[in-house]
Amino acid sequence: MAADQVSAERAAWLRAEIDRHNHAYYVRDNPVVSDADYDRLMRELQDLELAHPDLVIAASPTQRVGAAPLAAFGSVTHSVPMLSLGNAFDDDEVRAFDKRVADTLRAAGRLRPGDQVEYFCELKLDGLAMSLRYEDGQLVQAATRGDGQTGEDVTANIRTVRSIPLALQGDGVPPVLEVRGEVFMNLAEFDLLNDAQRARNEKVFVNPRNAAAGSLRQLDPRVTAQRPLRFFAYGWGEIGEIAAVRHGDVLDWLESMGLPVNTGEHMKALGADGLLAYYRDVAARRERLPYDIDGVVYKVNDLAAQRTLGFVARAPRFAIAHKFPAQEATTTLLDIEVQVGRTGAITPVARLAPVFVGGVTVTNATLHNEDEINRKDVRIGDTVIVRRAGDVIPEVVAPVLERRPADARRFVMASVCPVCGSAIERLEDEAIARCTGGLFCPAQRKQSLLHAAGRKALDVEGLGDKLVEQLVDRGRIHSLAEVFGLTADELAQYDRMGQKSAENLVAAIDRARRPVLGRLIFALGIRHVGETTARDLALHFGSVESLMGADLDALLAVNDVGPVVAGSILRFFAEPHNIEIVRALQASGVAPQPEELPRTQGLAAKTFVLTGTLPVWSREEAAAQIVAAGGKVSGSVSRKTNFVVAGVEAGSKLTKALELGVTVIDEDALRALLAQASA
Ligand code: NAD
Repeated sequence: MAADQVSAERAAWLRAEIDRHNHAYYVRDNPVVSDADYDRLMRELQDLELAHPDLVIAASPTQRVGAAPLAAFGSVTHSVPMLSLGNAFDDDEVRAFDKRVADTLRAAGRLRPGDQVEYFCELKLDGLAMSLRYEDGQLVQAATRGDGQTGEDVTANIRTVRSIPLALQGDGVPPVLEVRGEVFMNLAEFDLLNDAQRARNEKVFVNPRNAAAGSLRQLDPRVTAQRPLRFFAYGWGEIGEIAAVRHGDVLDWLESMGLPVNTGEHMKALGADGLLAYYRDVAARRERLPYDIDGVVYKVNDLAAQRTLGFVARAPRFAIAHKFPAQEATTTLLDIEVQVGRTGAITPVARLAPVFVGGVTVTNATLHNEDEINRKDVRIGDTVIVRRAGDVIPEVVAPVLERRPADARRFVMASVCPVCGSAIERLEDEAIARCTGGLFCPAQRKQSLLHAAGRKALDVEGLGDKLVEQLVDRGRIHSLAEVFGLTADELAQYDRMGQKSAENLVAAIDRARRPVLGRLIFALGIRHVGETTARDLALHFGSVESLMGADLDALLAVNDVGPVVAGSILRFFAEPHNIEIVRALQASGVAPQPEELPRTQGLAAKTFVLTGTLPVWSREEAAAQIVAAGGKVSGSVSRKTNFVVAGVEAGSKLTKALELGVTVIDEDALRALLAQASA
């Protein structure tokens, strides 16, 4: 259908807008909209062009790849164009892709009726495409994708990337070989790079992709050499005659010549169901991968079938990227409010215009603390990049400076608590500001009640935030002990409480009168006393009385208690109102049970990460021992890791463990754990 005026104008606007974003993203490495927003513009233009083919012009971004290269680098004309990939965002689009492929191959006699297409599945690393040219086995040129025809010559920079071989190995090296793949950064190494940048007061990168692109397009290769760039090959350009008949075989061959290939993540799949199974498997593991991926890629495995399918303007017909929901999105920062935590910690929270990110609609995100807000230079009214990965609390990554309105306001930390009006104070060596109101502050009171009722403390099922909110706001409960005076008849009067749930709650409260000592100590909410320390204290002192009477030396004698924890315990019991709470708990019949020595249950549910060279065991041996004892071994460190076993020359995993506060042990300690587990 011929396009009407409105559609033609819209198409022209979309083209200009996408071109502008292409330039910001590919040339300046500094996007001003999120990928999801960009993808929406592109989709709209594609749909418009599909409905009105006369709107398609050769210069449309739907017909081209990337953006023109930066003049600062020499240019390289690709002997075989570097294309993009078509994309699919849901199951239906993947099924439609498989159907198109199967229909075309059947029509060409390349697929028997009833047979399914065999695909090769790969991860879609979120980095930037690179073409490496080897002549007689020597790396002679490296080029970015640029606009697909012409890229930038970044040979000097690529030569600094340690995983890229300067010379290929083996006998079968062809005279000319162009290897294509992705340059990227691992997440842990990206974090370390940003820490270093921050320490030097230099630019902090928004995400690993930007960091990789910025690092690769440095004019000084010495800077690139300092950056933790990595590479995985997933394709080729000029290659000459090859014996292989499948895509996967070519990758194996590339690997045999010393090129890094992400073999461990590859899989063959049959038909759309096979593709979707791969997608779901990767999606479930996405958070645990050491690098960012933005989807998976499906390629028809048979090379002759690939040739039959051919290409459209900017992408092959034999491959498609199946994208994950974006983890980053841009939205407006409407306001910054503060929340008061259990220990009075004041956390600034970003109130956002609702935005769909990481699969959910987000309206709040954490900003951690005042320094973080200043460091990121986030202002109220800014357009900000919000990130939500997995179950992690959404966070504001950075403002988009190009879109800062003139009236954007800086955040000023309040001097008094918004809930109780007490002074807010921030100690010199602390990043966190705190309300000094203690249990006078209703916000702190609510949080400490919730903490005490929590599963790891007194475990009072049914005492949730809605009820605590009402109990505190109505002035019914001022401290934990008063919870033990609540009756079912009274509770039944509260919102959302029926007689039955009130009775259940009273039964749960009654059970909480006999907690194990460690849980009671934990429930008190002494700063720095976590679940484990509370149990150690319980085992050591045997009663709350003797813990209250302990002096510094006595406290320091406890396993894992250092000056900070000991100081915090002493300060807690120096407060008369805390003693009163303990007395009131005793008066309301709370009588703790002795703490039992934890019985080891093998290493079930414990996750280990091995790094560095251990003195005696090889890593494989250590891993086998852990698995035999019921533990799990993972390749990357996260908050869920229980132990990092570090040997000599432990690298980024150790750093990451220390950053996240994961327990680090050596081989001896591992042996002790294993012995304990099997006792
Ligand atoms: P793409 O990133 O969606 O897919 C093509 C690219 O995938 C290839 O060039 C290659 O670099 C990469 N890739 C990773 N693993 C691969 C594998 N196993 N096999 C083949 N290729 C693999 O397409 P594109 O044209 O490079 O970029 C478009 C995307 O870039 C958009 O969808 C958007 O997410 C982002 N973008 C964002 C902005 C912005 O302003 N935010 C601007 C331009 C582009």
